[in-house]
Amino acid sequence: LASKLFHPEDTVINIEGVKIGGGNAAIIAGPCSIESEEQLLTIAKSVKESGANILRGGAYKPRSSPYSFQGMEIEGLKLLKKAKELTGLLTITEAICLDSIEHVAEYTDLIQIGARNMQNFALLKKAGKLNKPVVLKRGLSATMEEWLMAAEYIMSEGNSQVILCERGIRTFETYTRNTLDISAVPMIKEISHLPIIVDPSHAAGKWSMVEPLSKAAMAVGADGIMVEVHHQPENALSDGAQSLKPEKFKKLMENLAKMGL
Ligand code: PEP
Ligand code: MN
Repeated sequence: LASKLFHPEDTVINIEGVKIGGGNAAIIAGPCSIESEEQLLTIAKSVKESGANILRGGAYKPRSSPYSFQGMEIEGLKLLKKAKELTGLLTITEAICLDSIEHVAEYTDLIQIGARNMQNFALLKKAGKLNKPVVLKRGLSATMEEWLMAAEYIMSEGNSQVILCERGIRTFETYTRNTLDISAVPMIKEISHLPIIVDPSHAAGKWSMVEPLSKAAMAVGADGIMVEVHHQPENALSDGAQSLKPEKFKKLMENLAKMGL
């Protein structure tokens, strides 16, 4: 179902007038984690002004350590809804299990399935039964074949609205958090009709690399980017080091526009 052989035209996903795929770029921006009303609304307003069309913010966090901040859960979902009412931005957040996906589908416009859950087949099947677009992140060490098969799990249950997200893979390199597999964009475009976006924040792990990697992503034909933005990255409860300050995000948007990306 994900293959271009059976569906030669690029899929365009239309969410309340915001189109993703076929030359329409999704600009997803926001904090790694939703931390408070003040934090989310401040960031939402600023990314909206800079030209984002979708607000991200984790309410359920799949943290590597059980002692790290786990997210605001339902309270966070309610804040995303409020941010949408105030800014008009579409919203996305990650579902980490069969319980949370029901809540996520109720409160947000898109469902994110994270790298760590890319092969959680029960979760993929459940996402396939919901009538909401799904952003499916590439697993930490998943091949493109495994990633497309994960998309197939969602699509074979009836949900064809899948957006792939390259977020860097594990390699021997340690200077960056992950290695952005930029070749995934043109490769996936050759074999699949699904939109593909790039998350430069989790790929790099460093805010200074977010702009160059975003430019690279758009230059090779990505259908958008997902960028972490925080107004006080030094105090962020997660991923501060890779988060852009609002003014840096604004600059990134201006520079992408200048380059015609
Ligand atoms: C995220 O986007 O918040 C996240 C946890 O990303 P990933 O699943 O790519 O690690
Ligand atoms: Mn993060």
